[in-house]
Amino acid sequence: MTYYGSIEAGGTKFFCAVADEQLNIIERINLPTRSPKVTLDEVFAFFDTYPLIALGIGSFGPIDVNSKSSTYGYITSTPKPGWQNIDLLGSLKERYQVPVAWTTDVNAAAYGEMHLGAGKDTESCIYLTVGTGVGGGAVVNGTVLQGFSHPEMGHISVQRYPGDTVESACPYHDNCLEGLAAGPALEKRTGIKGQLLEATHDIWEIEAFYIAQALMNYTLTLSPEKIILGGGVMKQTQLFPKIRASLERQLGGYVALPVLEDYIVGCDLGDNSGTMGCLLLAKEKCEIKSDEFVS
Ligand code: ADP
Ligand code: ZN
Repeated sequence: MTYYGSIEAGGTKFFCAVADEQLNIIERINLPTRSPKVTLDEVFAFFDTYPLIALGIGSFGPIDVNSKSSTYGYITSTPKPGWQNIDLLGSLKERYQVPVAWTTDVNAAAYGEMHLGAGKDTESCIYLTVGTGVGGGAVVNGTVLQGFSHPEMGHISVQRYPGDTVESACPYHDNCLEGLAAGPALEKRTGIKGQLLEATHDIWEIEAFYIAQALMNYTLTLSPEKIILGGGVMKQTQLFPKIRASLERQLGGYVALPVLEDYIVGCDLGDNSGTMGCLLLAKEKCEIKSDEFVS
């Protein structure tokens, strides 16, 4: 029997899963993220009972995805206490001696959605999650997009909505998307948690303006076939038509967009986008027997 493993490593939880060759999930577990040692021991205890042939990891970051770097495979400068400079990829490779695919949580989710979910009929798509933070992943011509590092789409600069003077929720930037549009920014403006805000609240116009502004920039830069939106804040489904309308307004007719209801969509795989992406990447890694694993 052939088994693939998936690890969605999050700052709050680690979601681990094992699947068969057809990527049917056989077992899964959610572990609270404690110290690296404790959490990794729990991860090992879960996977040790399966003869894995490959693993896929989608991790919170920032992470080092540059295979030429001496800290390739590390979680690097995360604010998460205890997790700075942790060799997550190396620990898993050492334990299981199998090919391991390594990317960001959002790249993995983008990959899962592109192959099996909302992006099934595309080769290039963007996945953006709007939750505690904002993160984006991209698949371009069938491959997850990484360069010297990985995209940090949540921290692009945005122009402020007229009259919006709220303090940014991002400690690094006064005017970035995450600082002005993630869940904590909604709470800063209103004093109410996003999930408790009325669908008719004025805040959603402002929220849609920021998200649409970001989507305009991604559209102009990467021209994806589809943009898939997830995360807790996007459970406010009234945002979708507002974002589409705002994007159209902000683009000012410069680009002829695909039909907007098909271009800007929600996730199809629900909470499984990342897990399915990791499993697919594991399967692929196993098939190509990468140089990086052989060396
Ligand atoms: P995380 O980003 O930590 O993985 P979520 O995607 O659920 O988790 O994001 C949590 C953030 O999203 C919090 O700031 C929360 O207030 C906000 N949020 C969660 N659910 C909703 C909702 N239904 N509507 C608006 N905001 C929400
Ligand atoms: Zn920022």
